[in-house]
Amino acid sequence: MNVLLIGSGGREHALAWKLAQSPALTKLYAAPGNPGIAHHAECVDIQANDHRGLIDFCLRNSIEFVVVGPEAPLVGGLADNLRTMGIPVFGPGRDAAQLEGSKGFTKDLCRREKIPTAGYVRVESIDGARAALADFGLPVVIKADGLAAGKGVTIAYSPEEGEEAVAALFDRKRGQAVIEEFLTGEEASLFVLTDGTTILPFGSAQDHKRVGDGDTGPNTGGMGAYSPAPVLSAALEKQAIEEIIRPTIDALARVGSPYSGVLYAGLMLTATGPKLIEYNVRFGDPECQTLMMRLEDDLLDLMLATAKGELADRDVPAFSSDTALTVVMAAKGYPATPETGGAIGGIAEAEASGARVFQAGTTQEGSDLVASGGRVLNVTALGATVAEAKAGTYRAIESIDFPTGFYRTDIGWREVERETV
Ligand code: ATP
Repeated sequence: MNVLLIGSGGREHALAWKLAQSPALTKLYAAPGNPGIAHHAECVDIQANDHRGLIDFCLRNSIEFVVVGPEAPLVGGLADNLRTMGIPVFGPGRDAAQLEGSKGFTKDLCRREKIPTAGYVRVESIDGARAALADFGLPVVIKADGLAAGKGVTIAYSPEEGEEAVAALFDRKRGQAVIEEFLTGEEASLFVLTDGTTILPFGSAQDHKRVGDGDTGPNTGGMGAYSPAPVLSAALEKQAIEEIIRPTIDALARVGSPYSGVLYAGLMLTATGPKLIEYNVRFGDPECQTLMMRLEDDLLDLMLATAKGELADRDVPAFSSDTALTVVMAAKGYPATPETGGAIGGIAEAEASGARVFQAGTTQEGSDLVASGGRVLNVTALGATVAEAKAGTYRAIESIDFPTGFYRTDIGWREVERETV
């Protein structure tokens, strides 16, 4: 089978690596891909938002299945456009992708279906936002509606911070925002595969969003992650699926926009049970890298069964009981102004120990691999415990030569502390 993978990050490198292991695969293409993905796929220079270019490519190259990595093309309706042309796709259509594309859509769905989530109001003007702020206590959470790559959320601890956040939001003419109650607890990510009817658990993870050690500094796309998340016990996972994910999937099916693909629930594990913080309509990055390291089943086969609506016959996908831990190596200056062009070496040496180095913001310049984005490499290792996986990952990092890069030294700290108690 000829497969086209869409995307160019570390998440897609991990997906490409795993798809390439499938016996059913004839040829893997990636658009636009990256130098790491190029080890497993033929990269074609078509951007993810070029729907027409992608469809033409599929038709000309007998592509039988498309896997969409990032959220923007899904929210933009790429899956619908491909399906209209008769090309099966892994990923939801535009309507179902609103779960990530519109926070207001998801919050309203939660309210209708009585799904546990933070109390909220939707606001459409700065005066409405100010009134809502006055109604909530502190801290309070202010979110831009629409995709903001993790940068549209402010947690305000004082009235002044709240005022500043809403002024900035409405100054940038964003039409809509959600003001919501601040939830207390530990965050965890739960993944499921669903064809719109059947829901199969697909692993859990925890990530570190802040740029600095000790979870300090500005938010990033993610500086590291590990899977599974022991804090999300089997009982809590079952509760989250029953109380949060099942009613969501059923509600979308009822209104004629069934969800197909991977659904990623960002959960807050509160004293009164799991509550939904957000949905993502694709794998997390770097959580995906940890999941792919642990997945024991054939990814392509599972994705095809999802797309064809055939999950009812399937067992719950098998994952190694080991922990996988990913450390992101970023370019100095990230997230504000990452320094590009820095040379990267030592990947083969790092992988000699069994670790994997997934590439994100890299470019091949002749025989040199150089940094071309904020998050550059995702070093990932397996271990029997989080501490062992962490040790393996940091050992592998020692072999990498990336003088213009940096990384956090404490990924997994919370779980490592719990393991040592
Ligand atoms: P991303 O996709 O990068 O996770 P996003 O812009 O989609 O970000 P959210 O996930 O909704 O936004 O929020 C980002 C972060 O803000 C969460 O991971 C969480 O740490 C914090 N947060 C969001 N909502 C709440 C809440 N109601 N209570 C406490 N913390 C919250």
